[in-house]
Amino acid sequence: MQHVNHNLIRMSETRPENIYGWDLQQLESLVTGYGWPSYTARQIALWLYKRHADDFSQMTNLSKKIRSELASSHIISVQDPVEMQLSADGTKKYLFPVENKGYIESVFIPEDKRKTLCISSQAGCRMGCRFCMTGRMGLKGNLSTGEILNQVRSIPERDLITNLVFMGMGEPFDNLEAVLQSLEILTAEWGFSLSPRRITVSTIGVVPAIGAFLNRSRCNLAISLHTPFEEERREMVPMSKAHPLADIMAAIRSYPIEKQRRISFEYIVFKDVNHSQHHVKALARLLDKIRCHINLLSFHPIPGSSYRSPDQKTIEAFRDALDNKGIMTTIRKSRGEDIQAACGLLSCLK
Ligand code: SF4
Repeated sequence: MQHVNHNLIRMSETRPENIYGWDLQQLESLVTGYGWPSYTARQIALWLYKRHADDFSQMTNLSKKIRSELASSHIISVQDPVEMQLSADGTKKYLFPVENKGYIESVFIPEDKRKTLCISSQAGCRMGCRFCMTGRMGLKGNLSTGEILNQVRSIPERDLITNLVFMGMGEPFDNLEAVLQSLEILTAEWGFSLSPRRITVSTIGVVPAIGAFLNRSRCNLAISLHTPFEEERREMVPMSKAHPLADIMAAIRSYPIEKQRRISFEYIVFKDVNHSQHHVKALARLLDKIRCHINLLSFHPIPGSSYRSPDQKTIEAFRDALDNKGIMTTIRKSRGEDIQAACGLLSCLK
């Protein structure tokens, strides 16, 4: 017969629950459970996500009794970055520890008035893209909503951020519910109040999640495309086997045109691989009648990869050829390469 240790069970039952990352509905259930006035939920949300309180004692418009009851059963789990690396171009890379999952990185990219924070949605990633250091780590774990939001909350430049991109470590649609809840809190007027137009979520195109994202969020969608050819894409993004291009395009096209927001396609250019006339024609066919934009990025070499970087002239010629086909195309400037903060270079193999 199994021996049950009741002391241990009692200890785990009373472990305070982390409240950081809860949405208004979850806070309302908490407040109702305690029998507190219903407006208390909103007050707590404002303290968490607008005033960035890290202790219940700071919530001075709640009664002392409520504050002490909250503190006895809940915690606000937030974490400052433990390291910052500064690039010559002003880009900053922050390192955060995450419980039981190692470390994650976030990148702050100042560019004139635009201040973009690139955040992670997972520790590591299981998509295994051949051009990405994070892919080599494998997946260490999904981030909770609180761990996603903490990257925005806990950097010193928090109040300067104008744009957010989910392009750090991980495939956001492999952690869909936590990402959607973080988007709700980031855009809610009781939350961070960021405009959904200033938030972009980037995916390799996990098909069932595309529809859910378009229906449940108003933020921008970016698809990592890299080639219009299925076979070639499987070489670059092995997990795309499960999510063929035809299905990705069908998911985007099935969204009602009147509600369509502009979708961007991220396209890493690899020398002598994916910038031929052949690619230009196939891209024009693939993206026909989709309101979209292509962002070209130069490949950043990673150890042991056979891919090479193209020169600037090659990228410009490819951009012009796409423009001539009527596809709006821009070349994205590489940032933070000297501190391994540029696209595809993030990795926390610690
Ligand atoms: Fe994962 Fe993105 Fe890297 Fe691919 S590029 S392995 S999806 S983090």
